[in-house]
Formats: sequence, C-alpha cells, structure tokens
Amino acid sequence: MRRTHAEADARLVVARPRLPLAETILPYLQRIDEARWYSNFGPLLTELEDRLSQRFPEGTRVITVANGTQALALTLMAMELPAGGLVAMPAWTFVATAHAVLQAGLVPWFVDVDEQTWSLDPAALAARLSQAPGPVVGAIPVSPFGRPLDLAAWRAFRETTGVPVLVDAAAGFDTADDARLPLVVSLHATKVAGAGEGGFLATDDADLAAKVRALSTFGFRGSRDSLLPATNAKLSEYTAAVGLASLDGWPADRLRFLRAAQMLRIGLTGLPQVEFQPGWGADWITSVCCVTLPQDAADAVEASLAAQGVDTRRWWGLGCHASPAFADLPREPLDATDRLGRRVIGLPFSIDLTSAEIGRIAAALRHALSGV
Ligand SMILES: *Cc1c(COP(=O)(O)O)cnc(C)c1O
Repeated sequence: MRRTHAEADARLVVARPRLPLAETILPYLQRIDEARWYSNFGPLLTELEDRLSQRFPEGTRVITVANGTQALALTLMAMELPAGGLVAMPAWTFVATAHAVLQAGLVPWFVDVDEQTWSLDPAALAARLSQAPGPVVGAIPVSPFGRPLDLAAWRAFRETTGVPVLVDAAAGFDTADDARLPLVVSLHATKVAGAGEGGFLATDDADLAAKVRALSTFGFRGSRDSLLPATNAKLSEYTAAVGLASLDGWPADRLRFLRAAQMLRIGLTGLPQVEFQPGWGADWITSVCCVTLPQDAADAVEASLAAQGVDTRRWWGLGCHASPAFADLPREPLDATDRLGRRVIGLPFSIDLTSAEIGRIAAALRHALSGV
C-alpha cells in the first residue's frame, strides 16, 4: 500500500476490523459449490462447530447461532427460567445483553459492577439477592471487553444460591475454554475473531445444547415436526466458510493483535494517567483498547483527541442502563458503573496498528492530558 502525505493527516479511526482475505475463504467457497449445500447444518458449519468445540474440554457442545445476541436470547429461553423473572446483569455492558433478556421474556435487573474488575462480583450479588425487587431467576456475568471472569466463583454462586448463570463472553473468544457454565461468544466483525455476523453457545449440558439448536431451527429436533415455539437463527455455509478461514488465521492473528497491543502499551509508557485493563495484550487479547482516564478528564481528552484527528469511542456509552430502551427497568444504585462510564474511552486499535499511528495516539494523548 502506498503511503501519502494525505494519509498522515487522515483521521485515526477507533476500529479497523480485518476479516480473512477473499483468497483464504475461496477454498471453502469452492467446497460449497461442489456440495451444493448452502445452509441447514452443512459440512462447513459442522466442521466449524467441531473446531470451535476443540477449544474446550472434551464433551463440550458448541452450537452456532446467527449472532451473539440471539445466542444469549435462545440460551435463556432454553434454560426455561420463570417468565417475567428478574435476571441480574451488569449495567456496565453492551446493550445486547439487556435486549437478549427482554427477548427471552425476562426482566433485566441492573446491578453495579466492581470498579476494579469492571464485572459483577458473585459474592456481592449473592448477598444482595434478597433485596432484589422480585424473584431473581438468573444471572448473566459479562466479560468486560474480553477480560476473563472468575468462573470458579460463578460456579460457586450457582451452587450456593441455586440461581442459574449464563456467561456473556461475547468478546472473550481468546480465553473462552471453560463451558461448565453455559457461555456465549460473538463472532461479529468487530470482535477479535470474526465471521461477519455470528455467535455460539458452548456448554457441557447436552440437553441445553439440543434445546438451543431446536430453538434456532423452527423447533425441529431430528424431524420436520415443530416441537416448540422457536425461530430461525441458523448460520449459513457462507458464514461458516468465513468462520473457518478466521480459525485458520487465528494463531497468527492472535500474535499480531498481541504485538499491536504491546506496542501501544510501550507507546504510552510515559502517560501513567492512561490505565489499560489488567492483562490486556499480555494474558488475553481483544479487538478494542479501552483505557481509564483520570476522573472527570474523559470529556476534555476526547474533545482534544477529536480535534487532533484521533477518534475515540465510549463502546458501552455511560452504561447499558442509560439507554432509553431500558429506562423503566429495575436497578440498584450504579455508582461504579456511572464512574466507569465517565472515565473509560476506547482508543484507536487494530490488528495492524502501525508505529506511526501509535506515535500519533501518544502525542495526541500527551497534548490532551496536559490541558486537563
Ligand atoms: C458484541 C456483544 C454482544 C452481542 O454480540 P453480537 O454478535 O454483536 O450480537 C453481546 N454482549 C456483549 C458484551 C458484546 O460485547
């Protein structure tokens, strides 16, 4: 690619997803041409689910679904939680989590997160269950931007409280390797390993897996009889082709993401006011770079960066609870979430972030922070 002066002045966008190149997808597309099998659990989709399940212990079922949101909603339906019951979920998440709960006929109950981990604290939630404004029939811990959760603590929560747990690890493809609690990963283009649109449930519960499968395909279960109210949320062979090419590229892509993250961390070493998520780019990787700024600095820093041509994004806004769609839903005091919403911004990040771009981000941040 030729670099021009104009490029040096171009805006730095906050995300520049890169899915597998056409030439790496082509062999899979040719297999579709030969098989003349385009959807409904063809050979490519079966292979994709097999290869995804190999990332988990033996016996794990992987069920692909049209996207992560549908994977969450259908899994909640398959869990057969009492209709209208409360599902404890963090307000600090993407709106998809709350939409999935509502779609499943349940009611999100917004709970505050731990300010250090950015996720629900299972012990604190267990202690608050009795103060909920109604029966709590489920809980959805959310992996914040892919940071791994303490799943052993969540299994203990399920054990001691009896409240079923579904893990929203939509951005957690990199470290998702434990399906003893049902766990959902997204394959959206903006996530770390993408198929364009797509998602999957991983679970060690064969019945749950079969139920989600049936829900994704008109309630069919080995016959053409529709056994339960359901929908169509299948992935086509074309999406499976992209997913397979993505998996082929993942080992090398993971290293590229890690390298970009390490370079960005080095680029910002002189700016201790900019805090990365713990372990980001070392123990785990994701496709976005969220940093914490000093209290009350984010608005001014974002405005200054924008004026310098560096885009930022509040990936989760001020928290999911702040969306008009969820204005009437029950909530706890959300002090930590409110503080995070005012402090956390997404910086430009991509698999092929260059040193020149990192230099621009660092210089722009230094300038922006000198003014606050
Ligand atoms: C991306 C995301 C989702 C939704 O996944 P889609 O595949 O885009 O539907 C759900 N929850 C969280 C936390 C996400 O980041």
